[in-house]
Formats: sequence, C-alpha cells, structure tokens
Amino acid sequence: MKRIFPLFGIIILCLLCGCGEMRESPYERELFAMDTYMKLTAYGDNPEAALDMAEEKITELEELFSVTLSTSDIGRLNSSMGVPTEVDDQTSALISRSKILSEKTDGAVDITVYPLVREWGFTTGNYSVLSSERTEELLKFTGSSYISVSENTVTIPENFQLDLGSAAKGYAGEKAAEILKEAGISSAIMNLGGNIQTVGEKPDGSPWKVAVTDPLSPSEVICTISVRDKAVVTSGNYQRFFMGEDGRKYCHIIDPKTGRPVDNGLASVTVIGSSGTDCDLLSTALFVMGEESAVEFIKENSGFDMLLITEDGRVIITGNIFNDTEFTEKEIKNNAEVIV
Ligand code: AMP
Ligand code: MG
Repeated sequence: MKRIFPLFGIIILCLLCGCGEMRESPYERELFAMDTYMKLTAYGDNPEAALDMAEEKITELEELFSVTLSTSDIGRLNSSMGVPTEVDDQTSALISRSKILSEKTDGAVDITVYPLVREWGFTTGNYSVLSSERTEELLKFTGSSYISVSENTVTIPENFQLDLGSAAKGYAGEKAAEILKEAGISSAIMNLGGNIQTVGEKPDGSPWKVAVTDPLSPSEVICTISVRDKAVVTSGNYQRFFMGEDGRKYCHIIDPKTGRPVDNGLASVTVIGSSGTDCDLLSTALFVMGEESAVEFIKENSGFDMLLITEDGRVIITGNIFNDTEFTEKEIKNNAEVIV
C-alpha cells in the first residue's frame, strides 16, 4: 500500500495539473517574414526551443532571399552587373533547384522574371499595365538557362534580376520542418502565408486537415485536404492583383513567355507533395501552364498531387487525394473531375 500510494498521488497530481493534456497542447509562434504573416504550431513535451530554431531559420532565409534588401544574396546578385557573386549554400541550392524545375516546366516558372514583376508594380504596389514594347524589351533580360551556378558562386548576365518569390516560402517551410524533426518534434503544422508545411500527423494520430481558400470567394474555404508530413502550396490570381483601367484583373504571376500577368482561365492551383520547395515552384509553374498542360504535367510526374480550380468554378483533382478531400459543398465534390 505504501508503495502504491505515491504512484497514485503522482497520477492524481498529473490529472489535476492536466499533464496528459499539456503534451497535446499546441505551442504557437507568430511572425512576420517574407512579406507575409506566418504561424508555426508544434506539439510535444517542450517544442519552444525547436520553434525558436525554426523561426531563426526562416529569418535567416529571408535575409538571404529578400529581393528588396540590397544586402541579401539576391539583392547583391541583382546589382552584380554580370560579375560572379558568392552566395550562401542555401541560396545557390534554391537557385539550382529553381533552374531545374524551370527546365522541367518548359520555362513556366522562371526566377528571372523579376524585371517584369517589378515594372508591372507587384513589388511596390505602383501598378501599371506595361506596353507591349516595354514588355518585349524586358523579356530580353529573362531566361533561367542564363543563370550559372558553380558551387556557391552564381553569375547572372548584366540587366538580369532574380526573384525567389515563387519558391522561398516553400523552401523555408521545408527547412523549418527539417529543423523541427531534428529536434524531435513529430507533430507540427506551419502556415507560411498560405504555404502549408506539415510535420508528421496530429498528436492523436489523425492526419492534418489543410484548408484551401476558395479562389472565387477568398474569404471562404472550398475544401480541406487531409495530409501527413506533406506540403500543401497554392498559387492563385486572388492573392495579389490589381484591376486595370480597362477593367481587367492583372495578377502577380507573370507568364515568362509573354511577359504579362497570367490570364488563362485558372483561378488557383494547389500542389501537394513531400518537398515544400518543389510544391512551391510547381504551383507557380502549373498556374502559368494552364489547365491542359498542368493536367498533362501531373499525369507524367508522379509524387505530386494537384487541385486545380478554374475561373468558371470547375474543380480538377488527382485521384490520390480525392478521397482525402472534404468539400464545403457536396455538389463541388460530385462535379469534380478526378484525374490520374
Ligand atoms: P507564388 O505565389 O509561389 O506562385 O509566386 C509568385 C511570385 O513569384 C510573384 O509574386 C513574383 O514575385 C514571382 N513570380 C511571378 N511570376 C513568376 C514566374 N512565372 N516564375 C517565377 N516567379 C514568378
Ligand atoms: Mg510558388
């Protein structure tokens, strides 16, 4: 009895203090980085230190990748006038990966489109519809194949400028997830301005349910996708855009072939996969490619799932995630086109 009593006491104490519950309580961290609000949520015994490291990593990457910071790796490259520039290993790794995916997507994602992104006004908010002459002129300074990467030395031709906006948040989510895992966290979800990166599953063993914004009604959710240990990344024309005097909507994603904001009938593309970096690059690429080519690409490249929503309200989804997706309206699910 004497031996049992202390144990019993500890159990009672734990129940009173809610020790069991404490393990399940989320630890949350909010920050503003990469021009967006981010929220990191981790579960476990004491994930505070791990969250500190994840936050530090995101801040470190922002300081390397920021296009508006003249001292960042990208800022230095953009004023390098064709001179080979030494950058951090992480910068050269992300530039290399971007180059590879640019090639794979026939140039649909292209980190050299920055001169166009900037002159259309997406960096400053001073929007203007570019003339076709100016667009043609700026297109001469684009093309990822002209970037050369040799270990951590990067060279871009004079007048070229890079922008990692299509990949940075996905990469940051992937790296932050690696850090959390190394620190022993097996359950976390991070929202990096709409780029979602999950670690493992929920503490109760069920999958994470990631909400996808309805691009046609951005204050609402169109569906939730159940995932474990995956990234869920969306590119859409509702995220950053301006209305021209001509009454047309100009969105922040530029078609590198035309130099103009994408206007191909797509409203959003969500890509689900293991690598946040690849999902981010691909969501941008598939949005540029348009419905037909995006579907073709996903059919030919296993390892990724896709949810595509068109401006006329159609939903195209890969079969692999169809059953793991709950739509807010039954009708949307019934009418969805399931591919692969
Ligand atoms: P995301 O939201 O990931 O699709 O990335 C879009 C951002 O990447 C834009 O805000 C631009 O800064 C930049 N961008 C625009 N068009 C492209 C493109 N075709 N390829 C690569 N980056 C782009
Ligand atoms: Mg992207």
